[in-house]
Amino acid sequence: MVIDIMNWENNVRKVVPYVAGEQPQNNNVIKLNTNECPYPPAPEVQSVLHGFDSCLLRKYPDPDVSELAAALAKRHGLSKEQVFVGVGSDDVLAMSFLTFFNSDKPILFPDITYSFYDVWADLYKIPYECQPLDENFRIRKEDYQKQNGGIVIANPNAPTGVWEAPSFFEEIVKANPDSVVIVDEAYVDFGGESCVPLIEKYENLLVVQTFSKSRALAGLRIGYAMGSEKLIRYLNDVKFSFNSYTMNGVTIKAGVASVENEEYFRRITAKIMETRENTKKRLAELDFIFPDSKTNFIFASHKHVPAQEIFDALRKNEIYVRHWNKPRIENYLRISVGTDEEMKTVLDFLENYLKEK
Ligand code: PMP
Repeated sequence: MVIDIMNWENNVRKVVPYVAGEQPQNNNVIKLNTNECPYPPAPEVQSVLHGFDSCLLRKYPDPDVSELAAALAKRHGLSKEQVFVGVGSDDVLAMSFLTFFNSDKPILFPDITYSFYDVWADLYKIPYECQPLDENFRIRKEDYQKQNGGIVIANPNAPTGVWEAPSFFEEIVKANPDSVVIVDEAYVDFGGESCVPLIEKYENLLVVQTFSKSRALAGLRIGYAMGSEKLIRYLNDVKFSFNSYTMNGVTIKAGVASVENEEYFRRITAKIMETRENTKKRLAELDFIFPDSKTNFIFASHKHVPAQEIFDALRKNEIYVRHWNKPRIENYLRISVGTDEEMKTVLDFLENYLKEK
C-alpha cells in the first residue's frame, strides 16, 4: 500500500510579514520611533468617547461609514462618493493593492519607501519592480514612464521625508492612463501640498491619507482614500467582498469630531513643524546630515558615527528611534518629532554622547 505523505504546509500562503516599530509598554521612554503625534487628539474626541452610548454597540455599525465619509468629503471639497474610509491607511492601502493591482505587469514603487508595499505585493502575488531613488533620495519621474501594472508612491516619502510637488505627480499620472496611481499622503499635513485637487482631472489617481499622524489618532485606526467615484466604487466592491463592517461606531463618531475641529488640527501640525525646524538646526550643528523633511520625522545620518552605534546608545537611555539594516539606509536614523521638551532631552543627550566620541 502506498501511503501519501500529506504535507499541508505546501498549501500555506507563506509571507514575510511587515515589521512594525516597537510599542514599548513602559510609558517613561521617549518614543520617537513610529511617527506618532506627541499631542492629544482634538478635545471633542474625548467628549465623544466619554459620552458614547454602549447600547449602540448592539447593532452593526454603518457599513458605508457615511457620516465620516461626508465629513471628509466636505473638508476636501469632494463628494461623499469620492471617499473610502478604512481601518488606518494600512487597511486602505491593502484594499487598494487588492483592487487595483491585478495585472501581469509589475507595479512600480521606489527602492526606499514604506516597507509595507513589497509585503502586500508578495501577499497578493503582485509582481513588482523597485525604482531606485537618486543619490539625494529623490524620485526620478522617468522611472515611472514604462510599462507597469500600477504605481504607488508615498509623498512625502518615508522614511526619507522628501516631498515632491503635485505637478511632479501630475506628470506621472498623465503618463500612465492605463494604470492606477496611488499617492500615499500619510505625512502630507506637515508642510507638503496634497495631490487631491488632481483627482478632478484624473480618473486613475487615488490619494490616501490617515488620522494617525496629524490627527493624533494612531490608536483609533482611521485612514481614507480619495479618488474618482469610479475608483471608489471598485474599492467598495472589494471591501464588501471581504468585510462589510470595518469601522466601528465609536471610531466613526470620534473621527467626525476630529475632522470638524480644523483649528486644533492646524495648531498642532504647525507646532510640530516648528519643533521640526528647530530640531533640524541643532542636528546640523551636531554634524548630522539629512534630506529636507516635510514630515513629522527627520531621516538623519551622522558624518562620523555609525547609525547603529547611536541607535544603541539612545536605546540604552530609553530613547526609541527607528533604524533599518537595509542597503543605502543602514547609516540613517528616523527620528520622529516629539514635543519641544522631548527633543531637547534627545539633542542634549546626543551632544554629550558625540562629545565623547
Ligand atoms: N503610509 C506610510 C508611508 C506610513 O509611514 C504609514 C505609517 N506606518 C502608513 C501608511 C500607515 O499608517 P496608518 O495605518 O496608521 O494610517
